[in-house]
Amino acid sequence: MAREEIVGLVLPLIAVLFASVFLILWIRTRQGAHLLTYAFSYTMLACGFLTFHLFPDPTSVAATLMMHGCYSIGCIAMIAGFCHRSKRSFPLKAMAFAAVISMALLLMATATQADMNARLYVANMFYGLVYAVGAMALGGGAAKDPMRKVLTWIFAATSAQFFIRPTMSFVLAGIVTADDYRDSPYYAILVVTLAFFSLATALSLLGSFFYDQLSSDRAKAERDVLSGLFLRQPFEQRAIAMLERAKDAGVPVSMVVADIDFFKRVNDIWGHQAGDEAIAAFGRLIGGTVREGDLAGRIGGEEFCILVWNCTLDPSIGLADRIRRKFTAQEIAQLGADTRLTASFGVATWKIGEGYGKFFARADAALYRAKGEGRDCVRADGDTAEVEQQSQPVALARPAAA
Ligand code: GH3
Ligand code: MG
Ligand code: MG
Repeated sequence: MAREEIVGLVLPLIAVLFASVFLILWIRTRQGAHLLTYAFSYTMLACGFLTFHLFPDPTSVAATLMMHGCYSIGCIAMIAGFCHRSKRSFPLKAMAFAAVISMALLLMATATQADMNARLYVANMFYGLVYAVGAMALGGGAAKDPMRKVLTWIFAATSAQFFIRPTMSFVLAGIVTADDYRDSPYYAILVVTLAFFSLATALSLLGSFFYDQLSSDRAKAERDVLSGLFLRQPFEQRAIAMLERAKDAGVPVSMVVADIDFFKRVNDIWGHQAGDEAIAAFGRLIGGTVREGDLAGRIGGEEFCILVWNCTLDPSIGLADRIRRKFTAQEIAQLGADTRLTASFGVATWKIGEGYGKFFARADAALYRAKGEGRDCVRADGDTAEVEQQSQPVALARPAAA
């Protein structure tokens, strides 16, 4: 096998390798259609590379159709896949339209035997445009996601080289003719540049997959499986960070601590599974009631804590009471239609600069008071405000000395 044939086969083989890796990752994880899109994209690129390698005349109409078709579909699919992964909208239809127009121009140039430069310019401008649109779709907005940032820059650089490289190659090495296309300096520069950017893109896409895996594993490890809320330790870490932010921004923060009433009896009467269901129901209720900027966690067996962002005492008492009323009204399947559970709540508002521990102790003391004053009620820290006890537990008898 001639040396250039071996070299010519390297690119399609690498593309097939990446297509297989993305396909395997998709089959194993079933996480995100974007992995499947990458696999498809690299298969198309491999077909494009192979066409170029196998066709006797890569500048013929048939080869142009095959290669430009494969490359354009492959590039557009890959960029659209990453935009989908990053929850960014990519103008797929407009890009498909641009691909069709560029294909028509290329075929016209081929049919009229225009010199290679016209064709090369059309193709390069088209790919430059697709990558520029990809970079613009990904760029902007708060960049919490480092992989989105990396791919934005790679797409921008890829786009720039499509605009700069042809002119530079022509200036440095002169006009390309169809006959010496494969041997031209233009082609040599093209292969090296594209190999570099394609590899950088493929490795970054792989990197973004592992980054997403790690992030989702970490997010899962921080959540309680029953309630879906944060576990105690990650909750406290976030709470401390939230208080720091509140200090910097001068924003009020309140805390609601909640504990299900007479929970031991739930376990005793209906069993642990029913108890778990009640904890899950209470957690879901809390998670569904708080706002996006708030922080909610399960900090003990049937004890929950909410940090209410930008909220003073009265509205947080209102929030606690809404959760209390909803919980009292909620049926829990394993406990039967006649039984309702109740919960008690303690509320406190943060004193600027106060540590998390002291803040929690004040809210917890208010909860203790709510327990002492009959349960199923909300009590605020100190004597500031109180919300009246409104209803009695329905089916659960209270202990003699509650
Ligand atoms: P009070 O009204 O004073 O809060 O009374 P209580 O019975 O609810 O007392 P306490 O809050 O101390 O009880 C907590 C109980 O919750 C003890 C434990 O058996 C139970 N528990 C803790 N974690 C879980 C859990 O994950 N699942 C279930 N089913 N029960 C749990
Ligand atoms: Mg309890
Ligand atoms: Mg408890």
